Amino acid sequence: MREPFRNEPFTDFTQSDAIAEFQAALRIVESQLGREYHLKIGSDYVETTTKRKSINPAEIKQTVGTVSQADTEHAHRAMLSAAAAFEQWKRVAPSARARVLYKAAAILRRRKHEFSAWLVYEAGKSWTEADGDTAEAIDFMEYYGREMERLSERQPLIPLSGEDNELVYIPLGVGIVIPPWNFPLAIMAGMTMASVVAGNTVVLKPASPTAVIAAKFVELLAEAGLPDGVVNYLPGAGGEIGDFLVEHSLTRFICFTGSREVGVRINERAAAAKGDQRWIKRVIAEMGGKDTIIVAEDADLDLAAEAITASAFGYSGQKCSACSRAVVEESVYEALLEKVVERTQALVMGNPAELSTMVGPVIDERAYMNILKYISIGKSEGTLVLGGGKGSSSGYFIEPTIIRDVMPYAQIAQEEIFGPVLAFIKAANFDAALDIANNTEYGLTGAVISRDRARLEQAREQFHVGNLYFNRKCTGALVGVHPFGGFNMSGTDSKAGGRDYLLLLTQAKVVSERF
Ligand code: GLU
Repeated sequence: MREPFRNEPFTDFTQSDAIAEFQAALRIVESQLGREYHLKIGSDYVETTTKRKSINPAEIKQTVGTVSQADTEHAHRAMLSAAAAFEQWKRVAPSARARVLYKAAAILRRRKHEFSAWLVYEAGKSWTEADGDTAEAIDFMEYYGREMERLSERQPLIPLSGEDNELVYIPLGVGIVIPPWNFPLAIMAGMTMASVVAGNTVVLKPASPTAVIAAKFVELLAEAGLPDGVVNYLPGAGGEIGDFLVEHSLTRFICFTGSREVGVRINERAAAAKGDQRWIKRVIAEMGGKDTIIVAEDADLDLAAEAITASAFGYSGQKCSACSRAVVEESVYEALLEKVVERTQALVMGNPAELSTMVGPVIDERAYMNILKYISIGKSEGTLVLGGGKGSSSGYFIEPTIIRDVMPYAQIAQEEIFGPVLAFIKAANFDAALDIANNTEYGLTGAVISRDRARLEQAREQFHVGNLYFNRKCTGALVGVHPFGGFNMSGTDSKAGGRDYLLLLTQAKVVSERF
């Protein structure tokens, strides 16, 4: 009998034991920095001549690891390896596949702080953000394992006398998994293991800035007993191997989380059938967001300020769910702004290896330059009230930034910045606030802070986002509790961590036998 799914608890870092254990994990990982990682194709570890250094964004002189980079020849080999492994793996019983996920989750739980420590060094996550990322990776495996077992019980069909009918969910084939760097453990493991538990095999192309954490996870999968070839680890530059993998005739589906630009490109490329391709490729794409928290005039302003600050500046705003727009009814605009500024001033920016750090660096130089560019655009589109500057030059630090009196269609109110930049927008009333909230091409998350039942019910119907929250932050979706995914240019609304997810990675076959 399987225990029911429960979300992995977060670590309480007010406890001295937890602090000491996490510090020990940081020391262990620090002693392992700078190692080499190679491709894994089938059972072969492949060292390549081209290598990429993964660096600590908080200490850019520190190399986290050096990672072999695949070219198209390696990519082709990885595809053949995944296709060969599929012939065996698809025949493994769903419950046996699920057990590999439970085992991997158990190992990850035992080594939780170690993996979180890699996230601190490679992704620049604070302790709590890293701990949340690792907990979510465990959740995805526990959840999707159970989901596959549920699906394998067959869909109940209407009985027809004289016939035996059944519907089974069978796998698709070889998938390309392209995860983001911002949840480099949770989303990487979630997309990979959902594909795998459904009976598919994959080529995993990790995000370049966080390729080491993915390599560590692939090592863990071998320890959990996943057969070679089911997950092929193929780090490499998107420009070099991305299109090749998507367009490959053996590719059956692509599971992607990342930018709107890349998601749209993948969708286009996947749609064009190559000569020897025998199927229409499925694309599961989770892309950007331009997420809004609406604050109504009747709101608890302390709660609103807390929700906005956490959603805007957690992990330096580098979440597709992050609040980048506070849309506030006029009468409470000044009072709320003051409270948000006060809370934001109290955020401690620094090296995420320190427990006290609440805001770390942004991921890399490209992000750093891009965010600074948006801050300078923002200064001309509104009034800078807080931040706007760089932090320590040891890493890619940018101060939490608030810009007020931004117009609803300004560039910084429309384009995803993916950094610690919050626009304050004034709304004449609640209807106007909802119009503004719905005025972008995205539709991922949003929140409303209000005590008014009528306003909440109106927003429930009219606020057009995949994940809508009331009287709380708009980040931090929990597996199984808040299935996650958005509308419009935010992607295909795949609802990761929900009951519909594995259907995207399977196809249903009906067999009808007349006796
Ligand atoms: N699921 C995450 C959250 O709810 C966001 C995922 C992402 O940024 O890609 O905050």
